[in-house]
Amino acid sequence: MTDPSPSPSRPSLADQWTDRDAAVVWHGFTQMAAYADNAPIVVDRAEGRELIDADGRRYFDAISSLWVTTLGHRVPELDAAVIDQLGKVAHTTLLGNGNRAAVEFAEALAAVVPVDDPHVLFASDGAVAVEQALKVAFQYWVNAGDPGRTRFLSLGGAYHGDTVGALSLGDGGFGTDLFDPLRFPVLRTPGYADAGWAVLAIEAIDRHAGELAAVVIEPLVQGASGMLVADPDDLARLGDACRAHGVLLICDEVATGFGRTGRLFASEWAGPTFRPDLLCLGKGITGGYLPLSATVASARVFSAFDGPDLGERTFYHGHSYGGNALACAVALRHLQLIAEWGVIGHVGRVAAHLESALADRVAGLAGVGEVRQRGLMVGIDLAPPVDGSRWGRRVCAKSVARGVLVRPLGDVVVLMPPLTTTSDEIDRVIDAVARSIVEVTDEDDVSDPAQPVSGATR
Ligand SMILES: *Cc1c(COP(=O)(O)O)cnc(C)c1O
Repeated sequence: MTDPSPSPSRPSLADQWTDRDAAVVWHGFTQMAAYADNAPIVVDRAEGRELIDADGRRYFDAISSLWVTTLGHRVPELDAAVIDQLGKVAHTTLLGNGNRAAVEFAEALAAVVPVDDPHVLFASDGAVAVEQALKVAFQYWVNAGDPGRTRFLSLGGAYHGDTVGALSLGDGGFGTDLFDPLRFPVLRTPGYADAGWAVLAIEAIDRHAGELAAVVIEPLVQGASGMLVADPDDLARLGDACRAHGVLLICDEVATGFGRTGRLFASEWAGPTFRPDLLCLGKGITGGYLPLSATVASARVFSAFDGPDLGERTFYHGHSYGGNALACAVALRHLQLIAEWGVIGHVGRVAAHLESALADRVAGLAGVGEVRQRGLMVGIDLAPPVDGSRWGRRVCAKSVARGVLVRPLGDVVVLMPPLTTTSDEIDRVIDAVARSIVEVTDEDDVSDPAQPVSGATR
């Protein structure tokens, strides 16, 4: 049984798990020498949108388990989909053969993606969906008899995953600059932090069209660079420029897909004529249940790979677990539930509530620079008086102590609550984060009189 009041001499069950964890698990993006000191939570189980540790402490999952959870944890319908598929088969290969679960999910996905006459190439991680898109785009031009189109244009602040190809498209940061010698060169124009980003990207497309295989963007929101946001009209203009020059458009919706921004796909905000040639999906694709990703190709791209059996036009690439049947079964049920439950409409309403809560309680705080939001993706830019004061870390640690799990990107506090989050839960998250920002600001005595402190401060 859980001991509710562990004595100081005996570590709590949660602390014991942290010790066992640190002894054998190597956590990504984490300095392991400091891991245990940064108050990690080791999850024992979950209920709805709350995570529960071994001591029974509850944390609201305000980052959707790193942006993957959509409808919540232990959703009975999704649990049932996995169990039902387990009664058939867990996994069979998609290399040269098929699986009913993968076919059914691909059919359902094909009906809703903003891609013309699509085919779905499955994998298991978002980075691999991007990696596949790069290789498909590259071979597309070889197959099309125009092998001079070998370069990619990507944006400042871009993040597309951690494999070497995806890393090459990305703009570095997060301590990944040491891998620069491994990166292949790309054409890079400024990202969404620059209001003129679209004009500059379009100029580069005009100038370099003859050598460009594809333009790669995160439509609407550059997530990992701190939730930088784009104007949908600028996306539409970029799409037009790609089409005018025949350059492929790759949209990485690993983070923005499946309702996150208030549409099923963020590309939809740019209007009905914005049609990516390749669409990368991951994260929320299974509602956060199982690893699955997909590279969705338009008919234009797919048909260029038609050719004789064993011939050189074939796409020689594939992953062992791509299109895993359990993952596809839960992904199909998830897509159905998004429609059955009216999840997109709910996201619009709760995002509006979140927007006003942020305006009332967070935006005016002395420690806050800027608040950016699209749907249920939020970046709160903290403005520490001096570099190295680790405000992002400290604010998040205090929020976790208040029972709200958040994780910073540098000094940006990211909020990515599950899509089914209620207004009351939004208030709980905002209350914890606002109080934590005030506490950290007070600790560092930010009483700069030039900074107006709004009434939202308490
Ligand atoms: C998270 C992310 C990826 C990488 O996905 P993984 O599943 O972590 O490999 C790629 N692109 C974007 C935009 C992401 O947010």
